[in-house]
Amino acid sequence: MNFSQRIQRVEPSATLAISSLASQLESEGKDVVDLSVGEPDFPTPDNVVEAGKEAMDAGHTGYTPSKGVPELRAAIAEKLRDDGLDYEADNVVVTPGAKQALYEAVQSTVDDGDEVVLLDPAWVSYEAMVKLAGGDLNRVDLAPHDFQLEPALDDLGEAVSDDTELLVVNSPNNPTGAVYSDAALEGVRDIAVDHDVTVISDEIYERITYGVDPTSLATFDGMRERTITVNGFSKAYSMTGWRLGYLAAPEELVSQASKLHSHSVSSATNFVQRAGIEALGDTEAAVGEMVEAFHERRDRLAALLEEHDVDVRMPDGAFYMMLPVADDDQQWCEDVLEQAHVATVPGSAFGAPGYARMSYANSIERIEEAVRRLADEGFL
Ligand code: PMP
Ligand code: GLU
Repeated sequence: MNFSQRIQRVEPSATLAISSLASQLESEGKDVVDLSVGEPDFPTPDNVVEAGKEAMDAGHTGYTPSKGVPELRAAIAEKLRDDGLDYEADNVVVTPGAKQALYEAVQSTVDDGDEVVLLDPAWVSYEAMVKLAGGDLNRVDLAPHDFQLEPALDDLGEAVSDDTELLVVNSPNNPTGAVYSDAALEGVRDIAVDHDVTVISDEIYERITYGVDPTSLATFDGMRERTITVNGFSKAYSMTGWRLGYLAAPEELVSQASKLHSHSVSSATNFVQRAGIEALGDTEAAVGEMVEAFHERRDRLAALLEEHDVDVRMPDGAFYMMLPVADDDQQWCEDVLEQAHVATVPGSAFGAPGYARMSYANSIERIEEAVRRLADEGFL
């Protein structure tokens, strides 16, 4: 068979690859502490599961309108308006996971040779999505700025030009957990408006923060018309396997993206969308408990690493921490998996060589076990 240039430009997802390697070791009887994939370790809240079952029993098992069932699109728009965003149901496309929303956003805006600016470290799939669309990457490194955007605004201003088509912003950030300040986002706005750039704002970790309140990018003056806001249910409601997410954007983007949507996935799963309505409506307590648990784990992991004199940047959101490791972070992660049976993701996969990403969406006991093993095997 001959394969397209497009598909040969990309590698499989590093995060998913490592977690399947960890599962394989486990199936061989090894006790692996998996701090690789970013996936909440809680069950989906009961009432959401019930809503999904009831929807199935009620016969909601057929196709839905491609962009999503009207009640869910309306509920999403209402949630976004509560966050200060000016969207109606017609601005929303419901997708099987935020990943599909991002894919549609990139495919709808990037042509062959178009420049796309990423802020490194950046989640693994942005690069692949841009390459699949034929875009050229221009990367701004936040690592020298403690992973914060505000001190890197000059660098961003230099990287973005009138030739830039798209900028991707992800706060709270995967893999660093950084939450960008309002001043940083205002800086993004100034640059994007100056150069007439479209911006994807990936806000999937927006509910998972510790003592800070992130602002949605499209709430800033001049941003609504140029922002594609992406969010989803995987992280906030522990619904990774349900595959439910969305994009919200000006209607002209919605009508372009929905062409790809209708020709590829048709729609998100019917009864899953119904469960999504329940998730948006009645999960405050469950989300609060999960975030509290992540908070406790973050503090414990940071304290344990500090005991070993490891200097980490304290993340304000998501459930990831960047561990400074050897220059060859890929090798480090392989050695750690083989010798200590602890799975982490090499920073290089995110454009952050010299680091390993640890997901602390795991129990305190397993986090303690991971650090103990790293120390015992001489990795700290
Ligand atoms: N964006 C970021 C930054 C992520 O970490 C993830 C995690 N998978 C996604 C988007 C996609 O999430 P999902 O497709 O499960 O909604
Ligand atoms: N976003 C999660 C992660 O970074 C899930 C895996 C993926 O979709 O890449 O680990």
